[in-house]
Amino acid sequence: MSADPNCIFCKIVAGQIPSRKVHEDDELLVFHDIAPWAPVHVLIIPKQHIATMYDTDERHTAMLGRMTAMAPKLMRDLGVTNGFRIVVNTGRDGMQEVPHVHMHVMGGPRPWTKG
Ligand code: 5GP
Repeated sequence: MSADPNCIFCKIVAGQIPSRKVHEDDELLVFHDIAPWAPVHVLIIPKQHIATMYDTDERHTAMLGRMTAMAPKLMRDLGVTNGFRIVVNTGRDGMQEVPHVHMHVMGGPRPWTKG
């Protein structure tokens, strides 16, 4: 599995940086965001290093589908039953700060920032 030694999320995948994990399987890792925008804010990431959505194509369809499909159960299991938002920042103009694909999943009682 490809990893970038300078990537903060690859270091989280490797256990070199601690995180509050919510879910882990062969392909994906889910953990709480360190600076949450909402009462519940998790990041779903592929374990392999993929810098941005521009680096995905049809070969990643199943993985990207799994990332989206797991969000409702994750939120329910974290007690979020009144709605949530999914955000995937992409590239500089897309306000992506960490260059490793990640899906923000945010929920919990409002008000909270729209990010
Ligand atoms: P972006 O702006 O790239 O879409 O979002 C990156 C997110 O990663 C931010 O919400 C930020 O708080 C989160 N983040 C950055 N570094 C770490 C870290 O070391 N641990 C965790 N858990 N989250 C991080």
